[in-house]
Amino acid sequence: MRIHGFQKTTLLDYPGHLAATIFFGGCNFLCPFCHNASLVLYPDSLPAIPKEEILDTLKKRKGILEGVCITGGEPTLEVGLTDFIKEIKALGLLVKLDTNGSNPLVLKELLLNGLVDYVAMDVKNSPDKYSATIGKSTIPLKNISESIKLLLMDKVDYEFRTTVTKELHTPSDFILIGEWIKGAKAYFLQSYKESEDVISPGFHSYSRKELNEIHLMLLPYASKVEIRGVD
Ligand code: SF4
Repeated sequence: MRIHGFQKTTLLDYPGHLAATIFFGGCNFLCPFCHNASLVLYPDSLPAIPKEEILDTLKKRKGILEGVCITGGEPTLEVGLTDFIKEIKALGLLVKLDTNGSNPLVLKELLLNGLVDYVAMDVKNSPDKYSATIGKSTIPLKNISESIKLLLMDKVDYEFRTTVTKELHTPSDFILIGEWIKGAKAYFLQSYKESEDVISPGFHSYSRKELNEIHLMLLPYASKVEIRGVD
């Protein structure tokens, strides 16, 4: 398995739970603002961590940990993800999946088999801006729509989220995103933050005041709308 990162304890990645985080390498998107450039662009240059080592650690820490966050990269590209998650669930741990929503088949399998307890799915932008936002000319919009519909069925807790940059998002994009996810349980505006490992540096975030205005526009579309990442 292409596991290239393992954080033994975090309070940030699985909100409300003490969790460990597993990072899968590789992604089918190339979002220019992605802050995991090494995982996405050169996963093979990072040391691989055997899954047995991770399962052993989780076993030893299962009295301490409540859950595991599975992230990347894009974890649903990993052959064997379902079986791996089954092994984690067998330890009695909750599982949160972070996904870009491009793989509704895997998402559906995980949902139908009760293998995930929380899903955080990126909705990168309004449909017309998807290509520029994910850095790809081929856009899996049908897959994104299917994944959104799967989560709207309320089989598990979930959130939709958008990393917001001034260069890629205008306030009117959020009305179109809102229409796409209408009726959602939760939607988060994540303010862009520059980091050392970003794919294409130079993006900027909106101010708190501007994000508050976008937040107000989104209130009709989801039960909970919040802003993350602004001090
Ligand atoms: S932000 Fe997510 S979907 Fe985009 S390239 Fe990075 S890991 Fe892939």
